Amino acid sequence: MAFPIRIARTVPANVHLLLPIPKDAWKSFAKHAAGSLDAQEKTALARTNASLSREPDTALLPLWTGRRWLVLALLEPIASLTTRTARDAGEMLTERLRAVGIDQVFLVRGPVTRKCWQALQEGMALGSYAFTECKGTLPEEGAGPSKHTPVTFTFRQAQDLVPPVRLRIIADAVALTKDIVNRPPNSATPAALEKASRELAQRFPSMNMKVLQGKQLEAHGLRGISAVGRGSAEEPRLILIDYAPVKGKPLLLVGKGVAFDTGGLSLKRSENMVSMKQDLTGAATVLGVLQGAAEMNVRRRIVGVIPAVENMIGARAYRPDDVIRMVNGVTVEVTNTDAEGRIILGDALAYASEQYRPERIIDLATLTGGCAVAVGEDIAAILGNDPRFVGALRRAADDAGEPLWELPLHKPYRKFLRSKVADIVNLAEPLSASTIQGGLFLQHFVPEKTPWCHIDIASVAFDDEKNRATGRMVRTLLHYLESRNRA
Ligand SMILES: [Zn+2]
Repeated sequence: MAFPIRIARTVPANVHLLLPIPKDAWKSFAKHAAGSLDAQEKTALARTNASLSREPDTALLPLWTGRRWLVLALLEPIASLTTRTARDAGEMLTERLRAVGIDQVFLVRGPVTRKCWQALQEGMALGSYAFTECKGTLPEEGAGPSKHTPVTFTFRQAQDLVPPVRLRIIADAVALTKDIVNRPPNSATPAALEKASRELAQRFPSMNMKVLQGKQLEAHGLRGISAVGRGSAEEPRLILIDYAPVKGKPLLLVGKGVAFDTGGLSLKRSENMVSMKQDLTGAATVLGVLQGAAEMNVRRRIVGVIPAVENMIGARAYRPDDVIRMVNGVTVEVTNTDAEGRIILGDALAYASEQYRPERIIDLATLTGGCAVAVGEDIAAILGNDPRFVGALRRAADDAGEPLWELPLHKPYRKFLRSKVADIVNLAEPLSASTIQGGLFLQHFVPEKTPWCHIDIASVAFDDEKNRATGRMVRTLLHYLESRNRA
């Protein structure tokens, strides 16, 4: 990841000043920044004062003073500035600096709280991410070659910095997740997920990896994963990564890895199929979190569990009306092949619970389109069987500025899932409370007494407007693991 940082007492030559200013705090900012500005710059800054309040939040205002640019980065008024808005502003700021070709700035600290100042830096580190793997030889119109050059940030003193190691670990973990999701489906296949997992596991001596593939899945009774993956030319897999810096019952981290989702024979309409490369975000999140946890040296055993398939059509594809006997004996009548995520997750949850006897389980999945209907595109949904566990994850999400809202595992809704020919159907009609139904389905595959949370990230995983992954929930889970590490 590229988030170059330097420390310098004085402003180096040819480096522009970046001044993040809450728009109502100009006076105290001018005092704070006095040591970094010359007389001419102070006057120039004073002159713009009156117009600042009329500018929109997070505007970038360049100010030429004859020697160097002062880049005023407006932040929200101080009273409403939160770590969330400061982080978002930091991210946007870095992207804009890069877009206009500024690659060197000296950061002048303003009168913001330490927490907001750190969040701003975290945002800047996150904003340094760019996905360029797929760019070819054509130059981008209207942009110089510097568009993807990282911005180097210079700080006056080390105390002004979030520990850079932590910043880098977090930004790298989020970047790993984003890279896997952003890759096109012709290069992010189940085999590519296995390769990314192997590369990760090989970097850390405390990680071990196992893969069950093709016929081995059937031999282990994993007929759900096998059925969903059968229509693809690439064999389905169950990837298991055991991070064990200490002994003990692990936390299971299970992520849906549908490398591409056509819907299967219950085919999606073409406009709904675009962006379905994001259906492996749960798996990508697991890999990002495992990397972050290992780099932070989290002293806790974690097993990453990734069912990796492609949901395709073809002569061998599974059908509506099929009945699948899952690994724990529960039978599922397939009513819609597009509700494939819960089938592969059901097998993965039941199998890994049996194999590892986990202390706790978290699963992450782009599971239901209904999630965005229920909570909108800035919030992920969490459902769980243990209120304290749900509470701990929600606190971590608040810390990380990644909103998480609890939906109930409402027992009376189990009736929707009843099947006339098997135990349960994979998708019920009518499709009301579909996110809750998804959670209730998965609950059939989780040991009753093991604390378990299901996080539906279908609402937040992908920014459709910008056509890119968000990396949401990686930081939340790292915050959660860090807080448990201290306890
Ligand atoms: Zn689907």
